[in-house]
Amino acid sequence: MLSLIKLQRVFSIYQVPKVYHEDSIISGYRHPRSSATDCILSLFQMTNETLNIWTHFLPTWYFLWKLVTVVLMQQGWQDSFTWPLMVFLLSCCIYPLASSCAHTFSTMSPRARHICFFFDYGALSFYSLGAAVVYSFYAFPDKWVNSSFHQWYIPIATANTVVCTVLACYSRYERGNDLFHLKIYIYIFSFSRLPENPSFSKFFRILAFGYPCLFDNIPLFYRVFLCTGDGCTDNDTNILHYKHIGLALLTGFLFATRLPERLAPGSFDYIGHSHQLFHVCGILGTHFQMLAVEQDMVTRRPWLTANSIPVSFANSLGPALLCVVVNLIIICLFSLPLLSGPLHNALKYNEHNKCNCF
Ligand SMILES: [Zn+2]
Repeated sequence: MLSLIKLQRVFSIYQVPKVYHEDSIISGYRHPRSSATDCILSLFQMTNETLNIWTHFLPTWYFLWKLVTVVLMQQGWQDSFTWPLMVFLLSCCIYPLASSCAHTFSTMSPRARHICFFFDYGALSFYSLGAAVVYSFYAFPDKWVNSSFHQWYIPIATANTVVCTVLACYSRYERGNDLFHLKIYIYIFSFSRLPENPSFSKFFRILAFGYPCLFDNIPLFYRVFLCTGDGCTDNDTNILHYKHIGLALLTGFLFATRLPERLAPGSFDYIGHSHQLFHVCGILGTHFQMLAVEQDMVTRRPWLTANSIPVSFANSLGPALLCVVVNLIIICLFSLPLLSGPLHNALKYNEHNKCNCF
């Protein structure tokens, strides 16, 4: 069957426009004006994106199976104590799906690339809220349950998702042009101008995802690393939390350092570059995070039901719904300038003039 598929030509970094360049990845680029069909067919040939796509597409089905099991077979929707787990599992399905779609269709055009990754960032920000919701109801240490921090934890995490999505989307424009900045000022009033420097872009993206992740994990860090004496929830689940935290730190390290391809540019273009490892570590971390919260949910349920804040629509499904709506609005606000005529023309100009091939 593969022989029936016409394999697309792949290109070097010198043959594609700058907007498609990945640091230290020299070869394996797809055509910068691929059709949707070409993008889908590229899943079955080796390019520098193939493993990025599959490392998130396959886990999507694993988390979907877990969600369906909880919703339908365990009838979780009838039991409000299970709602936080459902929100978390939904976020675990959406973020790898959005990522695999973004990596698949990102070579259709420069603006398609930006919009694809806006959705990717929105989905990651939703995942950070899913983690906060599930921690709030199952993983908080006994000592902190019902504290002021606990009461404000989900509202702050919800606000963080807005900051996260805005910062991450904004970070894509380090190579942008004045026209884009002007339009962003019109649509989003609160930002001051940033230097057009790739390192600022990277810094903003790390901040965008690092900050909500660190905030979400405050109760967990306290529980497993700092807490002493009574009320520390020192149980068997902590080993799963350690595994998740270790993998989360490794994921952040890979994203920030771009190792190993930085040490040998061109040697890891197809297999083994940092973004693939980042995907794999992220998914493994999510897997252990899911096991940990499920175990906490089951083993701590009697105590939490008696002592903690009761689960309601307003503190579980409601914030999730709000996060989805607000993130979609933010993505639309960032996408509108890209879809307008003058900027689209500017992008076309850049595409045709900043490379040697197209
Ligand atoms: Zn990715």
